[in-house]
Amino acid sequence: MDVRTTKAFDCFLAGLEPPARERAAAELAAQAAALRELPPGPARAAELHRRVDEAQARFAAMRPDVAARVRCARGCSHCCRMWVGVAREEAELLALRVREGKARPDAARLRAQAAWTTPAEFVGRPLEEASCVFLGPDGACAVHADRPAICRAVLVTSDPGLCRDADGASRVTAVLNPYVEVLVSALLTVDADGAPAPPQGRHLAHELARILEGRP
Ligand code: SF4
Repeated sequence: MDVRTTKAFDCFLAGLEPPARERAAAELAAQAAALRELPPGPARAAELHRRVDEAQARFAAMRPDVAARVRCARGCSHCCRMWVGVAREEAELLALRVREGKARPDAARLRAQAAWTTPAEFVGRPLEEASCVFLGPDGACAVHADRPAICRAVLVTSDPGLCRDADGASRVTAVLNPYVEVLVSALLTVDADGAPAPPQGRHLAHELARILEGRP
């Protein structure tokens, strides 16, 4: 099996003793297998999103002290101004919402970002240019219910000012919920089945434009 993992999951694994590492790898394989049992398509991405939200809620119930320190909130959108990695089915879900008239990506950003092929192309751009195609002028996500798994996984506990400041990036701290990282890694792994992703992963705008334009 071609296993894909998030960087956070890799960091988590690196800190484990071999037996625990093997258990975590087995859990990832089990979650990927469970995902493959579901019919492929946008509904599978929506189900994965439900499972990620459930895992975050479980974590918050177990660690209310940590959950209380999370600083992410509506309008705080630094994470929405960089490479946003998605699985194909997540992009299909968003494309479905666009076709249903329930979501409208920013046309200029979609056109520009669809041509960007590496995370480095987001660096040093004016914020407006680098913003996610679904980020509204109020800094809120216009597709919050259908946002990709990666957008659900990141929960920052440090000062939001550090997220905005290029020099502060290395001091940003976030909650690492291993179960969420397993789920997102399972999604990436299933996403790679027969449809190789580029080394840097798929970008939201890139995939969305491809699907909306009917390109293979
Ligand atoms: S989908 Fe929403 S939460 Fe995710 S990057 Fe775009 S605006 Fe931000």
